[in-house]
Amino acid sequence: MQEKLSRLGIHNQLDLILHLPIRYEDETHLFPIGDAPHGQTVQVEGVIIHNEVVVRPKRQLVCQIEDSSGILIMRFLNFYGSQIKTYAVGKRVRLLGEIRSGFFGTEMVHPKCRVVRAGESLEDSMTPVYPTTAGLTQKTLAKIIRQGLQDAQTVQALIETVPEKIIKKYRLKGFSDSVMCLHHPSPEESIEALQSRTHPAWRRIKFDELLAQQLSMRLHYRQRRSRNAPALEQKNTLTKQFLKQLDFKLTSAQIKVYAEINRDLAVAYPMQRLLQGDVGSGKTIVAALAALQAIENDFQAAIMAPTEILAEQHFVKLSAWFEPLGVQIAWLSGGLRKKQKQAELDKIVSGAAQLIVGTHALFQDQVIFHQLGLAIIDEQHRFGVHQRLALRMKGAQSDLMPHQLMMSATPIPRTLSMSYFADLDVSIIDELPPGRSPVVTKLIADNRRDEVIVRIHYACQQGKQVYWVCPLIEESEALQLQTAVETYEHLRKIFPELNVGLVHGRLSQQEKIEVMLLFKQGKIQLLVATTVIEVGVDVPNASLMVIENAERMGLSQLHQLRGRVGRGSEASICILLFQRPLSEIARKRLKIIFEHSDGFEISRQDLQLRGPGEFLGARQSGVPMLRFADLEQDSELLTAAQDTTNEMLNDYPELAQRHISRWLGDKTEYLRV
Ligand code: ADP
Ligand code: MG
Repeated sequence: MQEKLSRLGIHNQLDLILHLPIRYEDETHLFPIGDAPHGQTVQVEGVIIHNEVVVRPKRQLVCQIEDSSGILIMRFLNFYGSQIKTYAVGKRVRLLGEIRSGFFGTEMVHPKCRVVRAGESLEDSMTPVYPTTAGLTQKTLAKIIRQGLQDAQTVQALIETVPEKIIKKYRLKGFSDSVMCLHHPSPEESIEALQSRTHPAWRRIKFDELLAQQLSMRLHYRQRRSRNAPALEQKNTLTKQFLKQLDFKLTSAQIKVYAEINRDLAVAYPMQRLLQGDVGSGKTIVAALAALQAIENDFQAAIMAPTEILAEQHFVKLSAWFEPLGVQIAWLSGGLRKKQKQAELDKIVSGAAQLIVGTHALFQDQVIFHQLGLAIIDEQHRFGVHQRLALRMKGAQSDLMPHQLMMSATPIPRTLSMSYFADLDVSIIDELPPGRSPVVTKLIADNRRDEVIVRIHYACQQGKQVYWVCPLIEESEALQLQTAVETYEHLRKIFPELNVGLVHGRLSQQEKIEVMLLFKQGKIQLLVATTVIEVGVDVPNASLMVIENAERMGLSQLHQLRGRVGRGSEASICILLFQRPLSEIARKRLKIIFEHSDGFEISRQDLQLRGPGEFLGARQSGVPMLRFADLEQDSELLTAAQDTTNEMLNDYPELAQRHISRWLGDKTEYLRV
């Protein structure tokens, strides 16, 4: 039994109590047969006046039930021999099911049916229907839960954890009442509200769930903030010099977020900030400024990126920016030769390197920082929470923790950052640098591929640069590679006078860098690529992109890819080739990407399409997911929970603790560090 229950996620008393019904059956009153509404589940009662096994059109048990208002046919297509006797003529039965007009007249097929005495009492609350699992009947599960609710221990388990004041403020129903009501709602409750989860009892459960999430995240936020970090004041030496040498001005959004970061860095506890901004909004410069602020305080800064291409690009870009300032940079990636790597490691440990750029290689054991003051993690969604913590811990020598700046490529919808990212402070770059021309998106079915090829040819002849992105083939990396190579060969053959390049994940690091450099220098006009170019790649001169089999890609991936063009002043076009037939979800995705260019809007719709679990990806490992609350639908409760959090922690710490352990138990470990 325990094993079956644990398959349902029920491991303890509270899990059992919070195993809530998915729907209800109303056995609290009877409809007259002649008057019962069709097409909805109803309960009727009558006496069997006819009973027969019919063989046409198919063997089945057919009974006629009569009450004072009419006659109803009850039909069983599967039945035991014993049922023929049980439902003998003269027996009084109670049926629960849907009435329809059928083959034999007004009928109920396979109703829930039991023999009753005349005048037998009705249920006094609605009958819950629980999600269950193989080998565990509804009846048994309902009984276990009913017992669980009655259990003496439960009195303790259902004790109120939210202070009266807050209950009043948000007009919440009591916790115990809510739980009881959801399991056994009285006949007056609206089934509609219960099933759509808008009933006050549901509101309360969702509020509590959201509150637990907010409390635990805020608590860990406070714990981390209670550690020491170096106070890195803005000295206006390197940062000022850097801004002077830039050939453009920061946008006011960039200035605003840098001010937020700057303030955080200057105080003696660790920053834990998430920098968000749409593709191309200019996050890298903000990161560079933050890094310089650490460096001007004689601390090291590290910047970590999820792919070699992106890390390399950061390295090249930051080198160009920082070399005139005399800042020393180390480079670490998986692809380094042993000797080279040792040299870089030495620079890092000795402190000769002031900025360290790299991939996952940054949190290998051999990497020892001299004095890490700031860890920057680009495209944070690509890293798991554990990896990020590893880097943070690496820097923590003695009792000084490094500051941490996370950057997300994909904007995170507000409700999501309010909930699953509540342990971070958030800065948002909400404008793009001036002079960008919007990318025009075209959806073209694959059978018109030839037209696209003609168009590409023409564009290249006009001196434009083009990305040709090959399809993502999830099942097989080898197949994806093969497709890319074939496309490359094909395009080279039909465009003999063009310089066609190829970049994919299997190239060595050096080869990748060379190809990207040639493209950047304009020596390659048409670059065939796998999705390795998805994030961060910045070649402003490229103004055309073709994405093959766009229907296979996720929304954030499409948005990222498309963000590779439209970076210069040239009007840009992104052609999405798709193959029919389109699945429902693929059709929706293509529609969204076609209609929207704002990354925040796209990710909001993406969240709706996929739900938070999938949306969050790596971060999800370790974060307890919300079971009841729906971020979009319950955003008002999310705000209420958020507004309550500090008050609870400050004024009612014991209740807060009890509330957290009720809802999360030991699931809060991941946030510990
Ligand atoms: P992302 O936010 O996607 O990481 P990047 O930091 O790569 O964007 O910036 C995209 C491009 O915009 C880069 O070429 C960068 O140099 C340029 N850029 C950034 N800020 C500005 C600005 N204030 N004015 C003009 N161009 C800018
Ligand atoms: Mg970037």
